[in-house]
Amino acid sequence: MGYTREPIPDGLTPPMCFCGDPCKVERSAEDDTWRQRYWMCANWAFDPLERAVQIGKLEPPPLCDFEEWIDTEIDPLDKRVHEGVKEINEEIRRRCELRRKEVEAQKQHKEEERRRKAAKCKAEREKKLERARRAKAALEENPDALRKGKWPRCTQ
Ligand SMILES: [Zn+2]
Repeated sequence: MGYTREPIPDGLTPPMCFCGDPCKVERSAEDDTWRQRYWMCANWAFDPLERAVQIGKLEPPPLCDFEEWIDTEIDPLDKRVHEGVKEINEEIRRRCELRRKEVEAQKQHKEEERRRKAAKCKAEREKKLERARRAKAALEENPDALRKGKWPRCTQ
């Protein structure tokens, strides 16, 4: 497996690039000329690594910058597919963003819950401390209360 070449359109003869060699066919990856075919230099600026050729990736840049349009408008089917893919990508992005916000909101909710619980515990502790303080004060004012059994003996 190597680089896949686009076939020469029927009835067309490849023009010569600036190097003086017949051009190859390439397809545009730009949005406004999506998959429109054009002639370009078939020579590489350098020889690609064997591995890159095998996996069909990292095609080196052309030797010269000759370019000439074959198609002057986007194929209607290519346009529909391209717009469909863009819509799907947009939908995926939108859902990811929504999910991210959900997770963020959940995190915030948990944090608020934790803070509320901590505040409640603190308030209860303070109430108990206050009760204990009052009980002790009352006992100091009226030591007989203990003997009357108002408080259990073990608190002494
Ligand atoms: Zn060339």
